[in-house]
Amino acid sequence: MLKEISARIKQGYKTSRFPREKPVLPGRFRGCPVINNSKFENGEKIHDNICPTGALSCKKECSVDLAKCIFCGACESDCAKGPISFSNNHSLAASRKEDLLVTGNRPSRATVTQYEKCKAFGKSLKLRQVSAGGCNACELDTNVLTTLFFDLSRFGVQFVASPRHADGLLVTGPVTKNMEYALKKTYDAIPEPKLVIAVGACSLSGGIYRDHPETCDGVDTIIPVDLYIPGCPPHPITILDGILRLLGKIK
Ligand code: SF4
Ligand code: SF4
Repeated sequence: MLKEISARIKQGYKTSRFPREKPVLPGRFRGCPVINNSKFENGEKIHDNICPTGALSCKKECSVDLAKCIFCGACESDCAKGPISFSNNHSLAASRKEDLLVTGNRPSRATVTQYEKCKAFGKSLKLRQVSAGGCNACELDTNVLTTLFFDLSRFGVQFVASPRHADGLLVTGPVTKNMEYALKKTYDAIPEPKLVIAVGACSLSGGIYRDHPETCDGVDTIIPVDLYIPGCPPHPITILDGILRLLGKIK
């Protein structure tokens, strides 16, 4: 028994101290893009046709639409000293899709307004996850939030098996035609008030599957979305940050 207690003391506290402390992210993590349009005006050209999802626009100035961006880094490496670089700012979520457009004048930051509906949920939020045709990476990064390190339940947030027990939906994937009806039915089964969280470029805009005839190009073409979390897949800390902002636990 003493052996076990000593091992437990040696292991210490394993859960992340986020949001009380800044998260430690890997060096190659790509967070919010930073756009310096003065470099663009000075002739540091960048080719927007290198962007695989149409997120990048470089006409009179550069902009990146985080709803479409898959954070592949091609725009950064196209021109080493160019106008676009990626910071390690993990905080990307937004309540309105238009707030996901990053321009030189408008650096991206989380723009999540505490949702009035959330007050009705008190201190707990039960979510039903729907995988609507993605590659599974967004689901994995969401699933990992329930592990010891992120410990989502310490904030009162839990995933439930039935939409009847849920306060909202967390949707990943572009919503394939095959999943369209199932998504609508699941949404309808959740009692009011309810909210919808879209996670990953696919669910925000169709991502790499955009304009494919078998997909619906994102969740908000089917049901209303209250929180958009960009990434491909978003880092678990980005997802957690968005959910906590929605609940008003991070201002
Ligand atoms: S990082 Fe985003 S904006 Fe840049 S090329 Fe890739 S998808 Fe396009
Ligand atoms: S956003 Fe990227 S990681 Fe998420 S399901 Fe789509 S392709 Fe996969």
